[in-house]
Amino acid sequence: MSTNQSWFDRALAVIPGGVDSPVRSFRSVGGTPYTVASGSGAYVTDVEGRTYIDFVQSYGASLLGHAHPAVVERLRQAVSDGTTFGAPTPGEVLLAELMTERVPGLEQVRLVSSGTEAVMSAVRLARGFTGRDRILKFDGCYHGHSDGLLVAGGSGVAQLGLPGSVGVTAGAVADTLVAPYNRVPTLDDTVAAVIVEPVAANMNLVTPRGGFLARLREECDRVGALLIFDEVITGFRLDVAGAASFFGVTPDLYCFGKVIGGGLPVGAFGGTREVMSVLAPAGPVYQAGTLSGNPLATAAGAEVLRRVGTKEYEYLSARVATFAARLEEVVRSAGLVARAPVQGPLLGLYLSHDEFLAPENFEQAQRLCDNGLYRPFFHAMLEQGIALAPGAYEILFVSLAHSDDDLERTLEAAAVAARGAAARS
Ligand SMILES: *Cc1c(COP(=O)(O)O)cnc(C)c1O
Repeated sequence: MSTNQSWFDRALAVIPGGVDSPVRSFRSVGGTPYTVASGSGAYVTDVEGRTYIDFVQSYGASLLGHAHPAVVERLRQAVSDGTTFGAPTPGEVLLAELMTERVPGLEQVRLVSSGTEAVMSAVRLARGFTGRDRILKFDGCYHGHSDGLLVAGGSGVAQLGLPGSVGVTAGAVADTLVAPYNRVPTLDDTVAAVIVEPVAANMNLVTPRGGFLARLREECDRVGALLIFDEVITGFRLDVAGAASFFGVTPDLYCFGKVIGGGLPVGAFGGTREVMSVLAPAGPVYQAGTLSGNPLATAAGAEVLRRVGTKEYEYLSARVATFAARLEEVVRSAGLVARAPVQGPLLGLYLSHDEFLAPENFEQAQRLCDNGLYRPFFHAMLEQGIALAPGAYEILFVSLAHSDDDLERTLEAAAVAARGAAARS
């Protein structure tokens, strides 16, 4: 019999912890993960045939919903043309054009295969360009799992309660400084770059305070450090051109991932021609990848980007704003306090017994995420066919495929789940 338990048991035997990425594990919420057999639009179906309204959406990679017919068709064509060559292809040029056309200050991009790779490469480039060593990141922001940035990270690192990771040497993080989010640090001329999630979406959702990003830009300029926006989540999800146009602050370097692969493995980093010219083969900073700019991934990503414009982002943002307000209401009427902060279509969810303000940094987010309420809430939602991320540090991803009825059903389930969670803790 094909059951979630039997697949998980088999996975545990041959894959550490049964998962290929720790955020997918149910370690912080307990229980057996559902094993997905297929997905369609807003839904995923597990190996037992149960269908869930999916708010994970591959942690934001899926903007149109799963297996969008146009993306599937585009991939069908692309796959029969050959999947990788080790030579330039039109697909990578087309995706790079679609990105640079929209994003301010993005004159050139280099495609890679994951967000981690994008960030790792952008940091190396910033160091090479400035001739400086130090990097500053913010507490609770997640920038992938490259050694130098695996410190004070959000997402799976926070979910497992880890300060960083064993196996990362003191030397590897010696040049990484950490500052609290939403406070502008004072820099000096040893700092090559400041990296920030313009909207922090790996410590649940923490939005930037008014002026935070603009003052960060000024502080970087004052000492000649580069500003890197890690837009692996916000890029082409927050709005049509990402955080720079949304907040009116342009970084020197961008990192992308998730949405731009249309559900296939992709990452990208880019910036002005001046900065990007330091990269090999034009310049001395080495960076490479056998599958970089992969024809399948670029075909899927370009198909997604072509299908979304200002209208789609406005539509999604408006829906999410209404949904968030109602979510707070239903949870409150069930006897708990909820805050569902939004920024564009990005949506967070904090639960508590007592009144609280929306968190502005990791410490505040952590207190709420670790209060024990998410676990019973998560399971009660799952029992009712609503799949949230199995960890309190992730946000909810509403795709363009989620219907009014899906959101309505989610609200009804949230009322039941909140009542249960309130009673049990
Ligand atoms: C997901 C994520 C990454 C890492 O991307 P991967 O494709 O998982 O390697 C980096 N930065 C941010 C902000 C992310 O959300």
